[in-house]
Amino acid sequence: SIIIETHHISKVYRMGAEVINALQDVSITINRGEYVAFMGPSGSGKSTLMNIIGCLDTPTGGTYILNGNDVSNMTDNELAEVRNKEIGFVFQTFNLLPRQTSLENVALPLIYAGYNKTQREERAQKALESVGLGNRGKHKPNELSGGQRQRVAIARALINDPSIILADEPTGNLDTKTSYEIMELFENLHAKGNTIIMVTHEEDIAKYAHRIVRLRDGLIESDTVNDNIATAA
Ligand code: ADP
Ligand code: ADP
Repeated sequence: SIIIETHHISKVYRMGAEVINALQDVSITINRGEYVAFMGPSGSGKSTLMNIIGCLDTPTGGTYILNGNDVSNMTDNELAEVRNKEIGFVFQTFNLLPRQTSLENVALPLIYAGYNKTQREERAQKALESVGLGNRGKHKPNELSGGQRQRVAIARALINDPSIILADEPTGNLDTKTSYEIMELFENLHAKGNTIIMVTHEEDIAKYAHRIVRLRDGLIESDTVNDNIATAA
């Protein structure tokens, strides 16, 4: 079933007299459970498209249907609600709170979902176990390796059971071996039915996805099935 549908979306940024067409005419359909990589040169519109798909921003033109709902004209508050419910974000820089433990970082999104402290900690502990960090709950980010920090961030992204995991250069700050460990984790998440969209510059990382979409100048240049899927396991 379809989870993401964009119909001719465009995004225009205006900076004084300058007009930037970050996205020109992007129509894409993604089914539940797909694992997609977005590639393309710097400035091609990858982040803009991810921000729109992640409900961090709205398109200037066209429509975006997420999980059956038209989100293209929602207010910021409505978008925030959709985001909390539907999207788990993973970033290149992990974006963990440095003074909080792994468990606290992972439990953070649950505060807004109305769980009490015990429930939050139980769920966060399970999420940490699911990424292989059951014994790192009391560690703070600076006591963890880069790969472990990204696992904590992935556990946090999963905690509300989102419809989609959006990962922006998830291996951008990791060495090769650790990158493959994160790709192995994504493989497992995909096998469990999660929908994953990741932006990457690296062909070796994109190869783990089952579909590769290439952007150029705000347009989809190609959208192909990856018939040479890499496996980390
Ligand atoms: P990518 O992620 O592929 O590098 P972006 O989506 O970040 O591309 O950028 C696409 C184009 O839009 C670029 O020309 C960029 O300079 C421009 N752009 C992105 N964000 C903004 C913004 N907030 N204000 C003005 N221009 C922007
Ligand atoms: P990786 O090979 O995954 O990058 P590292 O070689 O950085 O991992 O770390 C190996 C082990 O050392 C990990 O189990 C991690 O928990 C521990 N470790 C790394 N950095 C620190 C630190 N600053 N304080 C405490 N333990 C650490």
